[in-house]
Amino acid sequence: MAESYLGVARLPRIGHGYDVHRLVENRKLVLCGVEIPWEKGLLGHSDADVALHALMDAMLGAAGLGDIGLHFPDKDPRYKGISSLLLLKETVRILRTAGYELYNADLTIAAQQPKLRPYIASMIDTMAEAIGIDAKQLSVKATTTEGLGFEGRMEGISAQAVCLIQPVSI
Ligand code: MG
Repeated sequence: MAESYLGVARLPRIGHGYDVHRLVENRKLVLCGVEIPWEKGLLGHSDADVALHALMDAMLGAAGLGDIGLHFPDKDPRYKGISSLLLLKETVRILRTAGYELYNADLTIAAQQPKLRPYIASMIDTMAEAIGIDAKQLSVKATTTEGLGFEGRMEGISAQAVCLIQPVSI
């Protein structure tokens, strides 16, 4: 069996990502690359797309390549206000360089408001196009926390992602 840069068998690998951003006024709310009209948005150095950040951490974690803070430091002025879709494309490139591609990902966004269901199909299509995979390889779910915790108090939004990456077929 071929060896990877990791020195282990080139098998599919699983990854997990988790991120939180604070909700504030006078910011756009961008989730999975889709701008969602609402009275508040997420605070962060980039566009603060908490869902894409969780996805990128899952992808990098699966490959054993650290996290987005390592690859895209939030002190770096190049990333100020940047669309996280661009960072996602770069993450795809980093993975490919390491010999892997995303096979599938499943995201969960925890937000008390706004209701995200109307945007989910658009979120999936937007991510699939950025990554260069079929929409069927992606899943996005939204949940409230029944009013509990920081998400329930609408102080912030959290997101989790799991993914499977597979060796690039040659
Ligand atoms: Mg983040």
